[in-house]
Amino acid sequence: MNEFALIDRYFRRAVSDKAVRLSIGDDGAVIAPSPGCDLVFSVDMLVEGRHFLAGVDPVTLGHKTLAVNLSDMAAMGATPRWALLAGALPDFDEVWLRGFTQGLFALADRFGVALIGGDTTRGPRNLCLTIIGEVPAGTAIKRSGARPDDDVYVSGVLGDAALALSVLQGSARIADAEFAKARARLETPEPRVALGERLRGVATAAIDVSDGLTGDLQHILDASGVGASIDVARIPRSPCLDAMLGGAARDAGLASMLGGGDDYELCFTATVSLREAIAAIARDVDVPVTRVGSITAVPGLVVRDERGVPLPLLPRSFDHFG
Ligand code: ADP
Ligand code: MG
Repeated sequence: MNEFALIDRYFRRAVSDKAVRLSIGDDGAVIAPSPGCDLVFSVDMLVEGRHFLAGVDPVTLGHKTLAVNLSDMAAMGATPRWALLAGALPDFDEVWLRGFTQGLFALADRFGVALIGGDTTRGPRNLCLTIIGEVPAGTAIKRSGARPDDDVYVSGVLGDAALALSVLQGSARIADAEFAKARARLETPEPRVALGERLRGVATAAIDVSDGLTGDLQHILDASGVGASIDVARIPRSPCLDAMLGGAARDAGLASMLGGGDDYELCFTATVSLREAIAAIARDVDVPVTRVGSITAVPGLVVRDERGVPLPLLPRSFDHFG
């Protein structure tokens, strides 16, 4: 099968989105943005051996390739609309292509995202997806809006994806049933798009937790010129991680929860006066949202243990060049 037949068979689909004037098949896609909206762009690359293990189920990889980008849209408060996919594939593997596109399009359809273009080449497996979203003009949520005394929140639970990775890499052991749940968090993260959209005009700053809470929250603090104090006791975690924190594996548990990557939850800040409103939003979108601490005028991130004592050393967040 040649390159163009491959694109036609696996990536080109009928697009019902009226905003898409021209989709896959020309030198460029043409979209008509919604009047009164800003466009929000983001791109994320997934490299075999670095972001996913060789041999990972292609269906979950298709899901994750789009999910990590939808998560960036969620962090911006944007509604994801269109995607472009650049892929390097080592060979023509029909089973892999069928699985990958199944996972990708299932998630795309759930969020009303149209694949409008891309590029396909032979090479070490590498998937790079560009996402385009929309927000009402001027309403994108940035990292730079956190102010002293704002509350700090996180969605969902943290640390399970990193824990699953430790198990897959052989550096941690947990019960099979716990591992199955944690592995789903690693391989098929659920982007918090509905939550992000509802946080427009509510959150003062937001980021998605892709590299670990402490490192990602620090990006908000740097951009906003503030500090924060958060409490280990309040950070939402699975029963499995909770048990680790109380036992011999405490340090590994803390590392997963605070410094592990791949959670794709939202970390955001908001004024204290909006606590009720945020609780109502969390109920509406059916995503748990937990207040984990506050923004301080003094720069720096303080993480307090269960007795209120600051941790002397914060787990390192993921850094490709660190
Ligand atoms: P060009 O030669 O102009 O770069 P290509 O031959 O790379 O175009 O691609 C042909 C068409 O197929 C283009 O519309 C491109 O956007 C689309 N396309 C290529 N690869 C993919 C892919 N993996 N997913 C979606 N669309 C793709
Ligand atoms: Mg061209």
